[in-house]
Amino acid sequence: ADLVQRLENAIETVPNFPHDGIMFRDITPIFLDHLLYADVILNLAEFSRGKVDAVCGIESRGYLFGIAVAVAIGVPFILIRKKGKLPPPFVAEKYDLEYGSAEIEMREGQLKPGQRVLIHDDLLATGGTTEAAARLVQKQGATVSQFSFLIGLRGLQGEQKLAQFDAEIHKILE
Ligand code: IMP
Repeated sequence: ADLVQRLENAIETVPNFPHDGIMFRDITPIFLDHLLYADVILNLAEFSRGKVDAVCGIESRGYLFGIAVAVAIGVPFILIRKKGKLPPPFVAEKYDLEYGSAEIEMREGQLKPGQRVLIHDDLLATGGTTEAAARLVQKQGATVSQFSFLIGLRGLQGEQKLAQFDAEIHKILE
């Protein structure tokens, strides 16, 4: 079967988690099948090879694939973390959630001005998290060139929110 089909078979959809009305996509079964994991990395690496100078992954599931992609294409990997986990100096970006707000952080100086960056996460929903990550990258004088995700959820306007960055967007499945 093709990669999309194999991924669809592996990902479990769990209704009403973590809140009522949410259909949670659980990607953890991917790691039970090393050949599937390897093919996911190859797919993501093919999209980004030669096009970016660094990969930024979003905590925490963005690390599971982002690091392997960075190694596969031979560029640095930089962690974007939730507030309060990184020692100073760091740069931060606030963003709005459905209720309240959140903040993400990156060590200062790890991203170099002018670098072309891939921002990677496992899943694109409303795009709020990824948008904040892109602003954080821009704040440091780097360019957001690409976004990649395993899954893009339809009907939540995530891609529309990312259109402002004029970067390529890749999802393995919707
Ligand atoms: P967004 O900011 O609304 O686009 O939400 C994306 C973030 O929430 C990503 O970091 C995802 O890992 C996480 N997320 C949202 N919904 C799901 C889900 O159904 N399964 C796994 N992660 C999810």
